[in-house]
Amino acid sequence: AAARSLASCIFCKIIKGEIPSFKLVETELSYSFLDIGPLSKGHALVIPKDHTVKMHELPDEYLADAMPIAKKIAIAQGLENFNILQNNGRIAHQEVDHVHFHVIPKPSASDNEG
Ligand code: 5GP
Ligand code: ZN
Repeated sequence: AAARSLASCIFCKIIKGEIPSFKLVETELSYSFLDIGPLSKGHALVIPKDHTVKMHELPDEYLADAMPIAKKIAIAQGLENFNILQNNGRIAHQEVDHVHFHVIPKPSASDNEG
């Protein structure tokens, strides 16, 4: 099935290149890029190319494509300490209504030295 897109969605615009982003990894089904408001250096987002609001509404093939990308990003950044975060619904702090997985590096105290 063709991926759905929503013209007014900021992440759909990023996928289409209508809004610039710092791309990390792209596959047929997914796109990943740096978060514009990073909680730590290297904070990344992995999103499906299918416009879906919440994770439990996302077709499994997109879900299955996303985690290996999160893994690649963690390995490429040499991360040993990081959080994977995925918010669904306003009350759960979802601000952008297009499924996204955060990969948030957790720097150790020594990472901030020098
Ligand atoms: P949420 O709170 O919905 O889980 O997270 C949304 C994330 O998207 C936030 O961390 C925010 O910084 C990021 N974000 C929102 N708009 C943009 C954008 O235009 N570009 C990029 N790279 N990140 C964005
Ligand atoms: Zn979208």
